[in-house]
Amino acid sequence: MVSPGRHPKKEIADALRRGQTASLTVREIHRGHRWGELVCIPCQASRDGYSTPRDPGTHAKQLDRFIRDHIHPEPADRREAS
Ligand SMILES: [Zn+2]
Repeated sequence: MVSPGRHPKKEIADALRRGQTASLTVREIHRGHRWGELVCIPCQASRDGYSTPRDPGTHAKQLDRFIRDHIHPEPADRREAS
């Protein structure tokens, strides 16, 4: 039995784990060539993670870029701020 949240390609699995470490959500889809997606809940932004990317290293870098763009400081409590 395959544990959830584990991409078969190591480069991608590592990138997804870095995403989770950065508070992003990994949502498994397993549809077509999409293995799943990285989701930034505060922004409602998402980035597809392919199951069999032609170049896993490059795809992992694309995921890393998304992760870098969505490392947010502690979610501010806007109700208090304004
Ligand atoms: Zn974000």
